[in-house]
Amino acid sequence: MDKIYLDYAATTPVHPRVLDAMLPYFSQNFGNPSSVHTFGQQAEAALEGSREKVAEVLNSAPDEIIFTSCGSESDNLALRGAALAARQERGANHILISPVEHHAVSNTAQHLERLFGCKLEYLPVDQHGCVDPTEVSKRLRQETAVVSVMYANNEIGSINPIAEIGAICRERGIPFHTDAVQAAAYLPVDVEQLNIDLMALGAHKFYGPKGVGALYIRRGTPLLPVLTGGGQEFGMRAGTHNIPYIVGMAEALKLADQERQVRIDHLLPLRNRIIGRVLEEIQDSQLTGHPLNRLSNHASFVFEGVDGNELLMLLDVAGYACSSGSACKTGDPEPSDVLLAIGLSRSWALGSLRVTLGLETTPGQIESFLETLPGLVQQIRGFAESS
Ligand SMILES: *Cc1c(COP(=O)(O)O)cnc(C)c1O
Repeated sequence: MDKIYLDYAATTPVHPRVLDAMLPYFSQNFGNPSSVHTFGQQAEAALEGSREKVAEVLNSAPDEIIFTSCGSESDNLALRGAALAARQERGANHILISPVEHHAVSNTAQHLERLFGCKLEYLPVDQHGCVDPTEVSKRLRQETAVVSVMYANNEIGSINPIAEIGAICRERGIPFHTDAVQAAAYLPVDVEQLNIDLMALGAHKFYGPKGVGALYIRRGTPLLPVLTGGGQEFGMRAGTHNIPYIVGMAEALKLADQERQVRIDHLLPLRNRIIGRVLEEIQDSQLTGHPLNRLSNHASFVFEGVDGNELLMLLDVAGYACSSGSACKTGDPEPSDVLLAIGLSRSWALGSLRVTLGLETTPGQIESFLETLPGLVQQIRGFAESS
Protein backbone atom coordinates (compact mmCIF):
# COMPACT_ATOMS: atom_id res chain seq x y z
CA MET A 1 0.00 0.00 0.00
CA ASP A 2 1.16 3.49 -0.89
CA LYS A 3 1.92 5.74 2.06
CA ILE A 4 0.12 9.07 2.07
CA TYR A 5 2.24 12.09 2.98
CA LEU A 6 0.41 14.72 5.06
CA ASP A 7 3.42 16.46 6.61
CA TYR A 8 4.30 19.22 4.15
CA ALA A 9 5.05 21.65 7.00
CA ALA A 10 8.01 19.40 7.93
CA THR A 11 9.37 19.34 4.38
CA THR A 12 8.30 19.07 0.77
CA PRO A 13 9.66 17.07 -2.19
CA VAL A 14 11.75 18.95 -4.75
CA HIS A 15 9.54 20.13 -7.63
CA PRO A 16 10.55 18.51 -10.96
CA ARG A 17 11.13 21.94 -12.53
CA VAL A 18 13.36 22.88 -9.60
CA LEU A 19 15.39 19.69 -9.97
CA ASP A 20 15.82 20.34 -13.72
CA ALA A 21 17.11 23.83 -12.99
CA MET A 22 19.58 22.49 -10.41
CA LEU A 23 21.10 19.52 -12.27
CA PRO A 24 23.59 21.28 -14.61
CA TYR A 25 25.22 22.99 -11.63
CA PHE A 26 26.36 19.72 -10.05
CA SER A 27 28.47 18.69 -13.03
CA GLN A 28 28.84 20.79 -16.20
CA ASN A 29 28.70 24.17 -14.44
CA PHE A 30 30.54 23.33 -11.27
CA GLY A 31 32.65 26.50 -10.93
CA ASN A 32 33.28 28.53 -7.81
CA PRO A 33 31.68 31.97 -8.24
CA SER A 34 34.66 33.54 -6.44
CA SER A 35 37.07 32.35 -9.19
CA VAL A 36 38.19 34.81 -11.84
CA HIS A 37 38.13 32.42 -14.85
CA THR A 38 35.23 31.51 -17.11
CA PHE A 39 34.10 28.61 -14.89
CA GLY A 40 33.83 31.05 -12.02
CA GLN A 41 32.08 33.67 -14.12
CA GLN A 42 29.43 31.15 -15.17
CA ALA A 43 28.80 30.19 -11.57
CA GLU A 44 28.67 33.85 -10.58
CA ALA A 45 26.11 34.55 -13.27
CA ALA A 46 23.93 31.74 -11.87
CA LEU A 47 24.37 33.09 -8.34
CA GLU A 48 23.47 36.66 -9.23
CA GLY A 49 20.60 35.53 -11.46
CA SER A 50 19.20 33.59 -8.50
CA ARG A 51 19.62 36.57 -6.21
CA GLU A 52 17.68 38.72 -8.69
CA LYS A 53 14.90 36.12 -8.90
CA VAL A 54 14.51 36.00 -5.11
CA ALA A 55 14.68 39.80 -4.87
CA GLU A 56 11.93 40.14 -7.44
CA VAL A 57 9.53 38.00 -5.40
CA LEU A 58 10.40 39.89 -2.22
CA ASN A 59 10.21 43.33 -3.93
CA SER A 60 13.70 44.08 -2.68
CA ALA A 61 17.06 44.99 -4.20
CA PRO A 62 19.26 41.97 -5.08
CA ASP A 63 22.01 43.10 -2.69
CA GLU A 64 19.54 42.86 0.21
CA ILE A 65 19.39 39.04 -0.22
CA ILE A 66 21.92 36.77 1.52
CA PHE A 67 22.00 33.04 0.76
CA THR A 68 22.49 30.74 3.76
CA SER A 69 22.45 26.99 4.45
CA CYS A 70 18.88 26.83 5.82
CA GLY A 71 16.01 28.67 7.48
CA SER A 72 17.58 28.04 10.88
CA GLU A 73 20.82 29.71 9.84
CA SER A 74 18.88 32.70 8.49
CA ASP A 75 17.06 33.07 11.82
CA ASN A 76 20.39 32.79 13.67
CA LEU A 77 22.04 35.42 11.50
CA ALA A 78 19.08 37.79 11.86
CA LEU A 79 18.74 37.54 15.61
CA ARG A 80 22.34 37.12 16.69
CA GLY A 81 23.64 39.51 14.02
CA ALA A 82 21.13 42.24 14.88
CA ALA A 83 21.46 41.81 18.66
CA LEU A 84 25.26 41.99 18.62
CA ALA A 85 25.30 44.94 16.19
CA ALA A 86 22.75 46.88 18.27
CA ARG A 87 24.80 46.28 21.38
CA GLN A 88 28.01 47.40 19.69
CA GLU A 89 26.50 50.46 18.01
CA ARG A 90 24.11 51.79 20.64
CA GLY A 91 24.48 49.68 23.77
CA ALA A 92 21.05 48.09 23.23
CA ASN A 93 20.53 44.67 24.82
CA HIS A 94 16.75 44.10 24.99
CA ILE A 95 15.26 41.39 22.74
CA LEU A 96 11.53 41.05 22.18
CA ILE A 97 10.14 37.81 20.69
CA SER A 98 6.84 35.93 20.67
CA PRO A 99 6.52 32.79 22.83
CA VAL A 100 5.50 30.68 19.82
CA GLU A 101 8.65 31.09 17.71
CA HIS A 102 10.40 28.16 16.04
CA HIS A 103 13.39 26.92 18.06
CA ALA A 104 15.70 28.50 15.47
CA VAL A 105 14.57 31.85 16.92
CA SER A 106 13.70 31.00 20.53
CA ASN A 107 16.85 28.98 21.29
CA THR A 108 19.00 31.65 19.63
CA ALA A 109 17.36 34.34 21.79
CA GLN A 110 17.88 32.20 24.90
CA HIS A 111 21.50 31.69 23.93
CA LEU A 112 21.94 35.47 23.63
CA GLU A 113 20.36 35.84 27.07
CA ARG A 114 22.52 33.16 28.76
CA LEU A 115 25.87 33.87 27.16
CA PHE A 116 25.73 37.51 26.07
CA GLY A 117 23.70 39.03 28.89
CA CYS A 118 20.84 40.15 26.66
CA LYS A 119 17.47 40.83 28.33
CA LEU A 120 14.92 38.56 26.69
CA GLU A 121 11.25 39.51 26.93
CA TYR A 122 8.29 37.53 25.55
CA LEU A 123 5.25 39.14 23.97
CA PRO A 124 1.86 37.81 25.04
CA VAL A 125 -0.18 35.81 22.49
CA ASP A 126 -3.92 35.17 22.37
CA GLN A 127 -5.52 31.70 22.43
CA HIS A 128 -4.73 31.33 18.71
CA GLY A 129 -1.03 32.11 19.18
CA CYS A 130 -1.32 35.55 17.55
CA VAL A 131 0.53 38.69 18.64
CA ASP A 132 -1.46 41.92 19.16
CA PRO A 133 0.56 44.80 17.62
CA THR A 134 -0.37 47.14 20.50
CA GLU A 135 1.46 44.75 22.85
CA VAL A 136 4.61 45.27 20.77
CA SER A 137 4.11 49.02 20.99
CA LYS A 138 3.82 48.86 24.80
CA ARG A 139 7.04 46.87 25.19
CA LEU A 140 9.40 48.62 22.78
CA ARG A 141 12.19 50.47 24.55
CA GLN A 142 14.99 52.67 23.40
CA GLU A 143 17.37 49.83 24.26
CA THR A 144 15.44 47.23 22.23
CA ALA A 145 17.97 45.62 19.91
CA VAL A 146 15.61 43.55 17.74
CA VAL A 147 12.00 42.35 17.63
CA SER A 148 11.17 38.92 16.19
CA VAL A 149 7.64 37.71 15.46
CA MET A 150 7.04 34.82 13.07
CA TYR A 151 4.86 35.38 10.01
CA ALA A 152 3.02 32.02 10.13
CA ASN A 153 3.35 29.38 12.80
CA ASN A 154 4.67 25.95 11.81
CA GLU A 155 2.83 24.05 14.56
CA ILE A 156 -0.60 25.71 14.60
CA GLY A 157 -0.71 27.57 11.26
CA SER A 158 -1.76 30.98 12.67
CA ILE A 159 -0.77 34.09 10.74
CA ASN A 160 0.48 37.20 12.56
CA PRO A 161 -0.26 40.84 11.64
CA ILE A 162 3.30 41.38 10.43
CA ALA A 163 2.72 44.64 8.50
CA GLU A 164 1.24 46.35 11.59
CA ILE A 165 3.99 45.09 13.90
CA GLY A 166 6.62 46.14 11.35
CA ALA A 167 5.12 49.64 11.08
CA ILE A 168 5.31 50.08 14.85
CA CYS A 169 8.97 48.99 14.96
CA ARG A 170 9.80 51.19 11.96
CA GLU A 171 8.32 54.25 13.67
CA ARG A 172 10.53 53.63 16.70
CA GLY A 173 13.63 52.82 14.64
CA ILE A 174 13.94 49.23 15.95
CA PRO A 175 14.89 46.41 13.52
CA PHE A 176 12.05 43.93 12.94
CA HIS A 177 12.75 40.30 12.01
CA THR A 178 10.16 37.82 10.84
CA ASP A 179 10.60 34.07 10.38
CA ALA A 180 8.73 33.50 7.10
CA VAL A 181 10.03 29.97 6.57
CA GLN A 182 6.56 28.44 6.85
CA ALA A 183 4.71 31.43 5.38
CA ALA A 184 6.53 31.87 2.07
CA ALA A 185 4.71 29.02 0.33
CA TYR A 186 1.26 30.53 0.79
CA LEU A 187 1.47 34.20 1.80
CA PRO A 188 2.73 37.31 0.02
CA VAL A 189 6.33 38.12 0.95
CA ASP A 190 6.61 41.72 -0.27
CA VAL A 191 8.98 43.26 2.27
CA GLU A 192 7.76 46.80 1.49
CA GLN A 193 4.12 46.01 2.13
CA LEU A 194 5.06 44.05 5.25
CA ASN A 195 7.41 46.69 6.74
CA ILE A 196 10.11 44.09 7.34
CA ASP A 197 13.82 44.69 8.02
CA LEU A 198 14.92 41.04 8.28
CA MET A 199 13.14 37.96 6.90
CA ALA A 200 14.20 34.31 7.00
CA LEU A 201 13.29 31.82 4.24
CA GLY A 202 14.06 28.11 3.82
CA ALA A 203 13.76 26.45 0.39
CA HIS A 204 12.63 22.97 1.47
CA LYS A 205 9.31 24.29 2.78
CA PHE A 206 8.27 25.37 -0.74
CA TYR A 207 9.42 22.48 -3.00
CA GLY A 208 13.06 23.54 -3.08
CA PRO A 209 16.03 21.50 -1.82
CA LYS A 210 16.93 21.05 1.86
CA GLY A 211 20.08 22.77 3.05
CA VAL A 212 19.61 26.22 1.53
CA GLY A 213 17.92 29.36 2.82
CA ALA A 214 18.00 33.11 2.47
CA LEU A 215 17.88 36.15 4.68
CA TYR A 216 16.47 39.45 3.50
CA ILE A 217 18.37 42.33 5.11
CA ARG A 218 16.94 45.81 4.50
CA ARG A 219 19.68 48.20 3.42
CA GLY A 220 21.03 50.05 6.47
CA THR A 221 19.95 47.45 9.03
CA PRO A 222 22.86 47.05 11.49
CA LEU A 223 23.98 43.42 11.40
CA LEU A 224 27.18 41.56 12.29
CA PRO A 225 28.09 38.32 10.50
CA VAL A 226 27.86 35.03 12.41
CA LEU A 227 29.86 32.87 9.99
CA THR A 228 33.19 34.60 9.30
CA GLY A 229 35.82 33.71 6.75
CA GLY A 230 35.88 34.67 3.07
CA GLY A 231 34.07 37.75 1.82
CA GLN A 232 31.15 35.92 0.20
CA GLU A 233 27.63 37.37 0.45
CA PHE A 234 28.79 40.95 0.97
CA GLY A 235 30.88 39.82 3.94
CA MET A 236 27.73 38.69 5.77
CA ARG A 237 28.14 34.92 5.31
CA ALA A 238 31.43 33.22 4.54
CA GLY A 239 31.67 29.90 2.72
CA THR A 240 31.82 28.76 -0.90
CA HIS A 241 28.38 29.09 -2.45
CA ASN A 242 26.25 26.00 -2.99
CA ILE A 243 25.25 27.05 -6.49
CA PRO A 244 22.93 24.12 -7.42
CA TYR A 245 20.93 24.61 -4.21
CA ILE A 246 20.82 28.39 -4.57
CA VAL A 247 19.59 28.00 -8.16
CA GLY A 248 16.97 25.53 -6.89
CA MET A 249 15.81 27.84 -4.14
CA ALA A 250 15.33 30.75 -6.54
CA GLU A 251 13.40 28.60 -9.00
CA ALA A 252 11.21 27.15 -6.22
CA LEU A 253 10.40 30.59 -4.83
CA LYS A 254 9.54 31.95 -8.28
CA LEU A 255 7.23 28.98 -8.88
CA ALA A 256 5.62 29.35 -5.45
CA ASP A 257 4.97 33.00 -6.19
CA GLN A 258 3.57 32.36 -9.69
CA GLU A 259 1.40 29.43 -8.62
CA ARG A 260 0.42 30.74 -5.19
CA GLN A 261 -3.29 31.25 -5.92
CA VAL A 262 -3.65 27.98 -7.85
CA ARG A 263 -2.05 26.07 -4.97
CA ILE A 264 -4.28 27.80 -2.41
CA ASP A 265 -7.42 27.10 -4.49
CA HIS A 266 -6.48 23.41 -4.55
CA LEU A 267 -5.71 23.08 -0.85
CA LEU A 268 -8.16 25.34 0.97
CA PRO A 269 -11.28 23.18 0.41
CA LEU A 270 -9.34 20.04 1.43
CA ARG A 271 -8.03 21.73 4.58
CA ASN A 272 -11.52 22.99 5.46
CA ARG A 273 -12.96 19.52 4.91
CA ILE A 274 -10.44 18.04 7.38
CA ILE A 275 -11.12 20.69 10.04
CA GLY A 276 -14.90 20.39 9.71
CA ARG A 277 -15.03 16.61 9.80
CA VAL A 278 -12.52 16.11 12.61
CA LEU A 279 -14.22 18.57 14.96
CA GLU A 280 -17.61 17.06 14.12
CA GLU A 281 -16.68 13.39 14.43
CA ILE A 282 -14.10 13.25 17.21
CA GLN A 283 -15.29 14.07 20.69
CA ASP A 284 -13.13 16.18 22.99
CA SER A 285 -11.19 17.62 20.08
CA GLN A 286 -10.12 21.22 19.49
CA LEU A 287 -8.63 23.05 16.56
CA THR A 288 -5.32 24.67 17.50
CA GLY A 289 -4.42 28.01 15.94
CA HIS A 290 -6.70 30.55 14.33
CA PRO A 291 -9.86 29.13 12.70
CA LEU A 292 -9.69 31.47 9.65
CA ASN A 293 -6.46 33.40 9.74
CA ARG A 294 -4.26 30.36 9.15
CA LEU A 295 -2.12 28.79 6.40
CA SER A 296 -4.21 27.31 3.56
CA ASN A 297 -2.56 23.89 3.81
CA HIS A 298 -2.55 23.60 7.60
CA ALA A 299 -4.93 21.74 9.96
CA SER A 300 -3.91 21.12 13.58
CA PHE A 301 -5.75 19.67 16.52
CA VAL A 302 -5.53 18.45 20.08
CA PHE A 303 -7.45 15.44 21.40
CA GLU A 304 -7.91 15.15 25.13
CA GLY A 305 -6.56 11.97 26.74
CA VAL A 306 -4.69 10.85 23.62
CA ASP A 307 -0.94 10.24 23.42
CA GLY A 308 0.01 12.19 20.30
CA ASN A 309 3.09 10.08 19.57
CA GLU A 310 1.05 6.88 19.80
CA LEU A 311 -1.47 8.36 17.37
CA LEU A 312 1.34 9.24 14.94
CA MET A 313 2.62 5.66 15.06
CA LEU A 314 -0.81 4.13 14.48
CA LEU A 315 -1.39 6.56 11.60
CA ASP A 316 1.97 5.63 10.09
CA VAL A 317 1.13 1.92 10.24
CA ALA A 318 -2.23 2.71 8.60
CA GLY A 319 -0.32 4.55 5.82
CA TYR A 320 -0.55 8.21 6.80
CA ALA A 321 2.47 10.40 7.58
CA CYS A 322 1.46 13.23 9.93
CA SER A 323 3.16 15.14 12.71
CA SER A 324 2.41 16.27 16.23
CA GLY A 325 3.89 19.71 15.67
CA SER A 326 7.40 20.78 14.97
CA ALA A 327 9.30 17.90 13.35
CA CYS A 328 12.27 18.69 15.57
CA LYS A 329 10.24 17.52 18.59
CA THR A 330 9.68 13.93 17.50
CA GLY A 331 10.43 11.56 20.34
CA ASP A 332 10.21 14.34 22.90
CA PRO A 333 7.65 13.41 25.57
CA GLU A 334 7.28 17.00 26.82
CA PRO A 335 4.27 18.95 25.50
CA SER A 336 5.07 21.61 22.93
CA ASP A 337 5.97 25.11 24.21
CA VAL A 338 3.69 26.55 21.56
CA LEU A 339 0.65 24.59 22.75
CA LEU A 340 1.34 25.54 26.39
CA ALA A 341 1.79 29.21 25.35
CA ILE A 342 -1.72 29.26 23.86
CA GLY A 343 -3.10 28.13 27.21
CA LEU A 344 -3.69 24.41 26.71
CA SER A 345 -3.29 22.14 29.72
CA ARG A 346 -0.63 19.43 29.65
CA SER A 347 -3.16 16.64 29.10
CA TRP A 348 -4.66 18.35 26.06
CA ALA A 349 -1.29 19.52 24.70
CA LEU A 350 0.16 15.97 24.71
CA GLY A 351 -2.55 14.87 22.27
CA SER A 352 -1.64 17.04 19.31
CA LEU A 353 -1.90 16.22 15.61
CA ARG A 354 -0.75 18.31 12.68
CA VAL A 355 -2.00 17.52 9.16
CA THR A 356 -0.40 19.61 6.43
CA LEU A 357 -1.23 19.31 2.75
CA GLY A 358 0.66 19.96 -0.46
CA LEU A 359 0.81 19.76 -4.26
CA GLU A 360 0.41 15.96 -4.37
CA THR A 361 -2.55 15.82 -1.95
CA THR A 362 -5.80 14.56 -3.50
CA PRO A 363 -9.43 14.66 -2.29
CA GLY A 364 -9.39 10.85 -2.25
CA GLN A 365 -6.44 10.81 0.15
CA ILE A 366 -8.25 13.19 2.47
CA GLU A 367 -11.44 11.09 2.45
CA SER A 368 -9.56 7.90 3.29
CA PHE A 369 -7.62 9.72 6.02
CA LEU A 370 -10.88 10.99 7.51
CA GLU A 371 -12.31 7.48 7.49
CA THR A 372 -9.29 6.15 9.39
CA LEU A 373 -8.53 8.83 11.99
CA PRO A 374 -11.59 8.68 14.31
CA GLY A 375 -11.18 4.92 14.85
CA LEU A 376 -7.52 5.31 15.79
CA VAL A 377 -8.28 8.07 18.30
CA GLN A 378 -10.99 5.87 19.80
CA GLN A 379 -8.63 2.91 19.91
CA ILE A 380 -6.07 4.88 21.94
CA ARG A 381 -8.70 6.24 24.29
CA GLY A 382 -10.03 2.70 24.75
CA PHE A 383 -6.58 1.39 25.71
CA ALA A 384 -6.11 4.30 28.10
CA GLU A 385 -9.38 3.51 29.87
CA SER A 386 -8.86 -0.23 30.18
CA SER A 387 -5.26 0.05 31.46
C1 LIG B 1 11.27 24.61 9.14
C2 LIG B 1 11.27 25.91 9.87
C3 LIG B 1 12.47 26.54 10.26
C4 LIG B 1 13.83 25.89 10.04
O1 LIG B 1 14.16 25.87 8.67
P1 LIG B 1 15.31 24.83 8.19
O2 LIG B 1 15.54 25.22 6.76
O3 LIG B 1 14.71 23.47 8.32
O4 LIG B 1 16.48 25.05 9.05
C5 LIG B 1 12.41 27.74 10.91
N1 LIG B 1 11.22 28.34 11.15
C6 LIG B 1 10.05 27.79 10.78
C7 LIG B 1 8.77 28.49 11.08
C8 LIG B 1 10.03 26.56 10.13
O5 LIG B 1 8.87 26.00 9.77
